[in-house]
Amino acid sequence: MSDQAMSAPASTGPVLLGDLITDLERRYPPSTAAQWDAVGLLAGNPGRTVSRVLLAVEVNQDVVEEAVHLGVDLLLVHHPYLLRGVHTVAETTAKGRVLAELIRHDIALYAAHTNADDAPGGVSAALAELLGLREAEPLIRSTHPDSHPGSGTGRVGTLAEPTSLRVLAERVAQALPRTAQGLRVAGDLDAEVTRVAVCGGSGDSFLPDARRVGAEVYLTADLRHHPATDFRAEAPLPYLIDAAHWASEWPWLPHLAEQVTQDCAARGATVEVHVSSICTDAWDAVAGR
Ligand SMILES: [Zn+2]
Repeated sequence: MSDQAMSAPASTGPVLLGDLITDLERRYPPSTAAQWDAVGLLAGNPGRTVSRVLLAVEVNQDVVEEAVHLGVDLLLVHHPYLLRGVHTVAETTAKGRVLAELIRHDIALYAAHTNADDAPGGVSAALAELLGLREAEPLIRSTHPDSHPGSGTGRVGTLAEPTSLRVLAERVAQALPRTAQGLRVAGDLDAEVTRVAVCGGSGDSFLPDARRVGAEVYLTADLRHHPATDFRAEAPLPYLIDAAHWASEWPWLPHLAEQVTQDCAARGATVEVHVSSICTDAWDAVAGR
């Protein structure tokens, strides 16, 4: 046995779901979630044990099938599944079928959403890291008393060296998981840029913040026609890169896998953590080009 193996803490079996949630909520305090959000445990018993976990941006029928196939005890997702009023979980509805299938297979469902967007180690931090942004800091600092230092909306930082918008967009396209949409890019493709802002998920409400912090490029998702055209009419910078919503949030999952693994190991537990690569983006194809 190597010294390293001998000094590793003894890992013995599964973790309590309640303990896993405690650790998760230390990283991503639910009190820091937006008022309208619905984060936390949606199905499952905190008193049960977890030995296998599947991470996904969101749950749908395909993701549930993957969870059942892998035999996981917990499906940990970014998007809450029941955000708007639900009056039935009958299996005549898609949501009812998904929830019934999870419950039948004893799979708990937990969502960390806006509380995971802003935190260090969260969704926007993962996107900044994917681009190799240096000295990344939030576009808007969180003022919530329960937020960790360095929390806030989006991130802005600098690339290791000036890069053309064209090369940066190609690099982002290679680094993000593939979607039918790919990336939409607005701006002078040959211009050199170094200061880049990012925001995982729908980021058009933070366009003015990306400009305010002096970003030369803003990478986000779900940019709509009117906010984007009005913004570009005011000034050329920042240039825009628009990713698919799912793709912009997925880079968080490998970080989350590491965090869950570490937290369980610190409790002397071992969990098998899987990251789903099923694309849950709404679109299947692009035609006409
Ligand atoms: Zn999202």
